[in-house]
Amino acid sequence: SVPASITSAISAGTRRGLLIKGGGALETIGSVKTVAFDKTGTLTAGKPRVTDVLGLGLDRTEVLRLAAAVESGSSHPLAHAITQAAQEGQIRVPAATDAQALPGKGATATVEGRALSVTSPRHAATLTTLDPELSRAVTAFEEQGRTAVVLLEGATALGVIAIRDEPRADARAALARLRDLGVHTVMLTGDNARTGQAIARNLGLDVQAELLPEDKLRLIAELGAQGGVAMVGDGINDAPALAQSDVGIAMGGGTDVALETADAALLQERVTGVADLVALSRATMGNIK
Ligand code: ADP
Ligand code: MG
Repeated sequence: SVPASITSAISAGTRRGLLIKGGGALETIGSVKTVAFDKTGTLTAGKPRVTDVLGLGLDRTEVLRLAAAVESGSSHPLAHAITQAAQEGQIRVPAATDAQALPGKGATATVEGRALSVTSPRHAATLTTLDPELSRAVTAFEEQGRTAVVLLEGATALGVIAIRDEPRADARAALARLRDLGVHTVMLTGDNARTGQAIARNLGLDVQAELLPEDKLRLIAELGAQGGVAMVGDGINDAPALAQSDVGIAMGGGTDVALETADAALLQERVTGVADLVALSRATMGNIK
C-alpha cells in the first residue's frame, strides 16, 4: 500500500495547484538530474504577438492577409498570432484550400490559386536564397529573442513577420531555484538557434534549438539515460516528449492531451511549480527513508 506520507504529500501538492498523478511520479520528480522545458507556452506565456511585418515588393497588409489565410486552419501559437494581427488590422482574410501543417517547419495552403507557405527561415532557406534585406531583418529579430517566419509563394520569399512571446514573469527566478536544488535545466525548442539563445541567456538555462519533434524525443531519451529527466510542456505538440520523459509535467490544466499524457500538472501555470514539485518530492522521500 502507498505510505501515508505520500498520500498526504500529494494532497498538500493539490492544495498548492500541483497535481501529481501517483506515488511513482512524486518519487521520481525529486531524483531527476535534468529538467527539460518546452519554450512556447511553458517558459513563455504562449501568447505570441506580431511586432513587425516586412514585404518584398508588396505592402505589409498584403503580407499579413496572405499569411493569415495560410495559417487560418492551424492551431500553432504562431498561427494564432498571425491571424489575430490580421483581425486587429481589420484585414479581410481569403479562404485557403489544401491547408497542411509541416510539423516543426511551418504551414502551407493554396490561397487565391497561389501555392503559399509560412515557414521558419531555416526551412525557407532549403527552398530559396533569402534576399539580403529580409535576411538581415530576420537576424536582427532573432537576436532580440523574437521568432521570424517567412511568407513564400513557391520558392519565392514575399515577406517576413516577426513575433514576440514574453517570458513568464516567474521563469528566471524559478530556474535559479532549480539550479540551487542542483538540477540541470535546459530548454528544448524547434525555434531557431539565435532566438533560443537570446531567450535562454535572458532566463538563465541551457538550450537546444532547431529541434524537430523526433530530435526532442531523442534528446529526452539521452537525458533519461544520463540520470533521469523531467519534461515540462504545455501539451501543444509535445505530448510525445512528455510521454518519453521519466516524469512528464504539464504546464497548466488547459489541454486534455497534456493532462492525459503527463504525470503531473502545474494548474497555476507558474514555472516555480516545478521547483516546488522537486522540493516536495525530496522532503517526502527523505521522510520515508
Ligand atoms: P516549438 O518547439 O517552439 O514549439 P515548433 O516545433 O512547433 O516550435 O516549431 C518550430 C518552428 O517551425 C517555429 O519556430 C516556426 O519557425 C516554424 N513553424 C511551425 N509551425 C508553424 C506555423 N504554423 N506557422 C509558421 N511557422 C511555423
Ligand atoms: Mg510548443
